[in-house]
Order: sequence, then C-alpha cells, then structure tokens
Amino acid sequence: CGIVGYVGHRPALDVVLGGLRRMEYRGYDSAGVAVLDGDGKLIVERKAGRLANLETELDVTGRDRFTGTAGMGHTRWATHGAPIDRNSHPHRDASERVAVVHNGIIENFAVLRGELEADGVELTSDTDTETAAHLIARAYTAGPTAGDLPASVRIVCRRLEGAFTLVVTHADEPDLIVAARRSSPLVVGVGEGETFVASDVAAFIEHTREAVELGQDQLVVISRDGYEVTDFAGEPAQAKPFTVAWDL
Ligand code: GLU
Repeated sequence: CGIVGYVGHRPALDVVLGGLRRMEYRGYDSAGVAVLDGDGKLIVERKAGRLANLETELDVTGRDRFTGTAGMGHTRWATHGAPIDRNSHPHRDASERVAVVHNGIIENFAVLRGELEADGVELTSDTDTETAAHLIARAYTAGPTAGDLPASVRIVCRRLEGAFTLVVTHADEPDLIVAARRSSPLVVGVGEGETFVASDVAAFIEHTREAVELGQDQLVVISRDGYEVTDFAGEPAQAKPFTVAWDL
C-alpha cells in the first residue's frame, strides 16, 4: 500500500519510518523495513498491525542494528495471505540477500510459485510478492543477468502479470536500490546527496520537493548521486520531472 526507499547519507531507518508515517492515512494492516548495513547484510523487521507495533518491536530487538544509509519500508494492504507477521513485507529469498516490497497484485503468482517449488525452493509466506524475491535472487545468481541487479529485476518484471510497484535491494549492492512499476504509482524524490523512491510524494516531501514520475513499465535505479530510468528492455527512458507544490 505505502512504499518508500532511500539511499543517502542519513540513517535509513529513521527516514524510512518517517516516510511510512506520512503515508499512514492510506490505511494498511502490517508494516516492515529493510536496511542495508554496508557490511553485506540486510537487516529486516516486520510486524502485523499498526506502525506502532513495528516501532515497539524495533525497541525490543534493537534499533542500533540498523546502521545503514540505504533501505526501504512498506505498509501492507493484504491481497494474498492473511495480515500476519510472516506475510508482511519485505520478503526475502532463501539466502536472505534480496529483499522486496510490493504494492499491487502479481496475477500469475501461482504459476511462478509452482515453478519455484518444482525447483526445490521453499516459500515461507502465502503472498504473491515472495515469488518475485526468489526469482530476482535467482536471476542475480546465474544466467545472462548474473551480478547485475537492475537487469535481474527487469528480466523478472517482464515475466510478471498484473499491477506492481516493486522496490528491490540486494545485500551485495549496498549503494543502490532498484524500483519498477506497472499500473501502480512510483515517484522518485531527488535530494542533495540522497535519493528516494515512493508510492506517494508524501513519503519524502519533508526532505525534497524535486520529484520524477515514472511511466508505465519503467525501472529506476537510485543512488546517492541521482537516478537512472530505463524501460523493461533496458533502453534509456524518459520520466517526467516535476516540483511538488508547497501547499501539499
Ligand atoms: N499483494 C501483496 C500482498 O498481499 C501486496 C499488497 C499491497 O499492495 O500492500 O502482500
């Protein structure tokens, strides 16, 4: 339902939680965060219920684990799988190197899930989203897109049917975040030495008013220094820059 991703110079956990808070008005049933810690690890916490439940959980399990300056967060409105902890986003692959948050519905998830299971992959949630995490991890591990996160996300997006905004991180790529969209909103926020992606400008207007709206079937790679947009074939694409009005 609400999505935010961040790469910059500030502690990502604070920025991401702030962004999720600003999108709370949209309604949701669970929330979660993932932060890349720069030492090649993904730190994840997720919880059913209000954002306050996640915050309490973070107080118990320790916020100081989240040292990184790149990360993402999600508030979920369940479509596939009950609103319980293990169905909350972010979802990871078995190696816990890839984390994915998702808005929308992957219509062909049953086919994808069947393929993964036939290949011996154990799925740990009832969501449509988890299939994307496994597929991206596999595309990054072997084959023509190995070692290339944007290309791995693109090749998987081409297989997905339905509506999605996806934000993807890989523990081996701590300096970038990849996001993609089809029939579901995605905007980039461009700051000074920091860049955001979100489902709604509300997630980042406290930090920057310079935004870019992605078009249909586009993918963006964000880093501290900016952003790059392509289509799902990898060709450079134009997205629409705009300035968010001050009275929002
Ligand atoms: N279909 C996904 C799920 O049920 C995403 C729902 C959403 O848009 O929050 O987990």
